[in-house]
Amino acid sequence: MSVVEKQHSAEAMALEARFGAQNYHPLPVVLSKGEGVFVWDLEGNKYYDFLSAYSAVNQGHCHPKIVGALKEQAEKLTLTSRAFYNDQLGRYEQYLCNYFGYDKVLPMNTGAEAVETAIKLARKWGYEKKGIPAGKAKIIVCQNNFHGRTITIISASNDPVATENFGPFTPGIISIRYNDIAALEEAIDENVAAFLVEPIQGEAGVYVPDDTYLEEAQAICKKNNVLLIADEVQTGIARTGRLLASCGNCSCPEGLCSGTPQVKPDVLILGKAISGGVFPVSAVLAREDIMEVIRPGNHGSTFGGNPLACAVAMAALEVVREEGLARRAEALGNRFRQRMKEIIAETHWVRLVRGKGLLNAIVIDDTEDSSTAWEICMALKENGLLAKPTHGNIIRFAPPLVMTEAQLEECISIIRKTLLEFQKEA
Ligand SMILES: *Cc1c(COP(=O)(O)O)cnc(C)c1O
Repeated sequence: MSVVEKQHSAEAMALEARFGAQNYHPLPVVLSKGEGVFVWDLEGNKYYDFLSAYSAVNQGHCHPKIVGALKEQAEKLTLTSRAFYNDQLGRYEQYLCNYFGYDKVLPMNTGAEAVETAIKLARKWGYEKKGIPAGKAKIIVCQNNFHGRTITIISASNDPVATENFGPFTPGIISIRYNDIAALEEAIDENVAAFLVEPIQGEAGVYVPDDTYLEEAQAICKKNNVLLIADEVQTGIARTGRLLASCGNCSCPEGLCSGTPQVKPDVLILGKAISGGVFPVSAVLAREDIMEVIRPGNHGSTFGGNPLACAVAMAALEVVREEGLARRAEALGNRFRQRMKEIIAETHWVRLVRGKGLLNAIVIDDTEDSSTAWEICMALKENGLLAKPTHGNIIRFAPPLVMTEAQLEECISIIRKTLLEFQKEA
């Protein structure tokens, strides 16, 4: 057995407090094991995971097929850098392009890197294909977006906590209201290279735009020769009941696209669940006429496209197809929102539930800077379910998509019980 003494949660948290940068404020639970929809803490308490690592673990924790692919590839070859070819990358690129219906892919590691890559691609395309004068390219983004944490990406943010004292910022970014087509039309001029948008704003509190928003945005972008860039790092890979939340024209392996608006982003950004939470993998997909502006030396990453990432991501995407996760997310999501509406009718202070598929949130009748959502998440934890507030009054509910109906019912009971108890105390 291990010579290291068994660690307790309090010690683990104290170590992080003492030696770690305090750039997060976690719920006080120390996890040491995960399987499917469950995680366990150091004391052996079992919880339903209702965050799924911000939708990275759509396929469930430690999925045997994905972990198997990791182990198998890890024993053969892990990293070559792109100075040489490796035997997994080409296969992976072909697999990804066919899976999502794009010509080309540029592999990266984290979501933020993929967003950066898409911005660089759009600017270069703007100068070389659209004819924007040197140094004048603009990217349009939406207020309350979340695209990551690099300097350029936070330059597009209007969240003071994310931006304060990190300037100077990257110029060439215009911010407009989300879900406002007129604002997009107004913001576009001949120097705009791209419109970068989340199909649903996850971090902002699961804001679902109007059904026709993306379709109309696509039409305006097309008319003005502006690239539509969809950041599907959180919404992609079956989370919202479709392979992609912008899905409409892609080669959806489950044929769930009919009836949805016909939207096909010019540039698609993926991350998180593309590896099932097993390894950092991200990707930028685009048509050939866009991606071809990137030439050797223009962009890169030591780990991007490494054979371990390729093997893991292929297995993770196979799982999505084999287990019908988009269909499952859609069915479970409909049931979840229905049940939540019933619970809301019983409480006096839960305002609404919103979302798509298994990306949902409840909004509580309190202010954005209140601690109510946090207190409810603490109570949910005591009752065996882990969720995290996105704001003081909003709780996101995003379990792994491999959940069964019976498990979902149990979770709904936990949420109901917690909310009603909380009401009594309040
Ligand atoms: C999480 C997220 C990112 C950033 O991904 P990281 O891997 O954390 O860098 C970008 N865009 C969206 C929509 C996200 O949810």
